[in-house]
Amino acid sequence: EISIFWFRRDLRLEYNTGLSEALQSGYQVIPIFIFDADILDQLEDKYDRRVDYIHQALEKINAELKEFGTNLQTYHGKPLDIFKKIESEYKVKSVYCNRDYEPAAVKRDTEVKEFLNGKNVDFFDYKDQVIFEKNEVTKDNHEPYTVYTPYSKKWKKTFSPENIQTVVLNHKNFHQSDFNSIISLKEIGFEKTDLKFELPTLESAIIDHYDKNRDFPALDATTHLGIALRFGTISIRTCVRFALKHNETWLNELIWREFFMQILFHFPKVVKKCFKEKYENIPWRNNEEEFEKWCKGTTGYPIVDAGMRQLNQTGQMHNRVRMIVASFLTKHLLIDWRWGEAYFAKKLLDYDLSANNGNWQWAAGCGCDAAPYFRVFNPDEQTKKFDKDLKYVKKWNPDYEKSIFEERMVDHAFARNRALEAYKKGLGEYNGR
Ligand code: FAD
Repeated sequence: EISIFWFRRDLRLEYNTGLSEALQSGYQVIPIFIFDADILDQLEDKYDRRVDYIHQALEKINAELKEFGTNLQTYHGKPLDIFKKIESEYKVKSVYCNRDYEPAAVKRDTEVKEFLNGKNVDFFDYKDQVIFEKNEVTKDNHEPYTVYTPYSKKWKKTFSPENIQTVVLNHKNFHQSDFNSIISLKEIGFEKTDLKFELPTLESAIIDHYDKNRDFPALDATTHLGIALRFGTISIRTCVRFALKHNETWLNELIWREFFMQILFHFPKVVKKCFKEKYENIPWRNNEEEFEKWCKGTTGYPIVDAGMRQLNQTGQMHNRVRMIVASFLTKHLLIDWRWGEAYFAKKLLDYDLSANNGNWQWAAGCGCDAAPYFRVFNPDEQTKKFDKDLKYVKKWNPDYEKSIFEERMVDHAFARNRALEAYKKGLGEYNGR
């Protein structure tokens, strides 16, 4: 009889709660990963850096497992079908994993668990992706928080050193097997990209000055740990321990991550709908040609275009610039935030449903703790404040001078008024449903 450990958004051996528990189950453990066809089939680009990132992270795990006399079994298909196959091949006693809170993941896990339980196989899942999950940080009346500041206060009040304790890895309990390489990218329909996997590291040089530098895109003074947190190549507990020692502003960002995760968990409707439903009546213009210009970075606004080009070329975009381009799309162009959200989902290396959705709704003004709708970023003022030497603009948009002023797709003052009118109209028409 064996136990299975199922890797998902926790692609590391160290400090992995579910894996640690599996290795104490009393049964030999086979580690597995499933390339989920339901997810991969939705990806349009076979040169997807995120799939490559996962693949390289798994290769690293497999090399580490070799030292322990075992290897990572990789599969490609629908998780339920894969578990049916595994269950018919092995005498499985139990399956271990770490909890995932996105609606599709919750559905997937419920199906797998029901199937396994029906075969008398235990399914155990653990908290690993977050410090606090689901209902661990709520108002005193047990309702979920929908505003960040009181949430973060309660988060900090609830926190104790126990929340960041290390876990043991009893590696003698891995099922011993001959070494095998993992499934190739080609076999799952993808190609190698220019992405170079590096072990995520916490750099005090960046984090110590995060509060002062983080808003200036040219300084590139944020950690780039988004993708590592997304796929769990670093543990959130490692990050929080570091944040507590080094920089509270950075800790607050990690708490924003959990804030949006619990919003998605408690209000799964946000995947499709505005958190504040009265914003559903905004008369979006949704002009496809204008959307295309935004996507390509040819709006004539240098900072917007620089941001979109950075995204298109690298899969990354600085947070300040994400806020500017999101405001531009929703307010200046009056294009539905869901279009921008979907484009970011395709392109961002650190794409995460809860953070992306929460931040897009924030920018559009319809989110739980959103910027007020009448706050329309002026891209030129933002540039003066945060990129005054145009270092960031020049890096990603070197021909910016050609496009400036004469080729702007829309005038700022005009667009601002149009946005305010449209929002007022939409909110005024709200009939209280
Ligand atoms: P750092 O600045 O070093 O911060 C550390 C970590 O804290 C981040 O990696 C992230 O996990 C978390 N974090 C920081 N800011 C936020 C925030 N505002 N909301 C939630 N978590 C945060 N972040 C994503 O992780 N995935 C997304 O898909 C995503 N989409 C966004 C869309 C828009 C329109 C905007 C305005 C922001 C979005 N963000 C998203 C938030 C933020 O821009 C990124 O987390 C940040 O730029 C990543 O850079 P970094 O890894 O250097 O993070």
